[in-house]
Amino acid sequence: MATIFSRIIAGEIPCYKVAENDRYFAFLDINPLAKGHTLVVPKCETDYIFDLDDDTLAGMTIFAKQIAAKIKEFSGCKKVAMVVLGLEVPHAHIHLIPMNTENDVDFRKEKLKLTPEEFVEIAAALNR
Ligand code: AMP
Repeated sequence: MATIFSRIIAGEIPCYKVAENDRYFAFLDINPLAKGHTLVVPKCETDYIFDLDDDTLAGMTIFAKQIAAKIKEFSGCKKVAMVVLGLEVPHAHIHLIPMNTENDVDFRKEKLKLTPEEFVEIAAALNR
């Protein structure tokens, strides 16, 4: 069965899309730690990120780098954290999270509750 991220990529489940090319897809995390928290995923369905072949993994990092620059510009944060963790969705993904302190990437923190309008606005800003 396709993962939820593959169904998002296929357009079967809605998302707030940030960027896409032939190999990768980026969209806003629905439970963000900060405004601009984005997930980057490969279109190929692989659970564990280090099972990706070298070329796909390297390309994913470069794709994430381009989006991180947009997140940094949008949020004015000091750095964008690149985090790989979690067991919830068996589809490799990188979290990109605006960061001013290390506490900003504490996944035990309460997540932001954003309105659909806010999500649309953020995705549009990162899409430019
Ligand atoms: P983890 O595997 O722990 O990194 O968790 C998966 C991440 O995907 C979590 O941060 C979720 O909020 C996020 N997530 C799960 N489903 C969706 C969805 N439909 N749209 C956007 N983000 C999602």
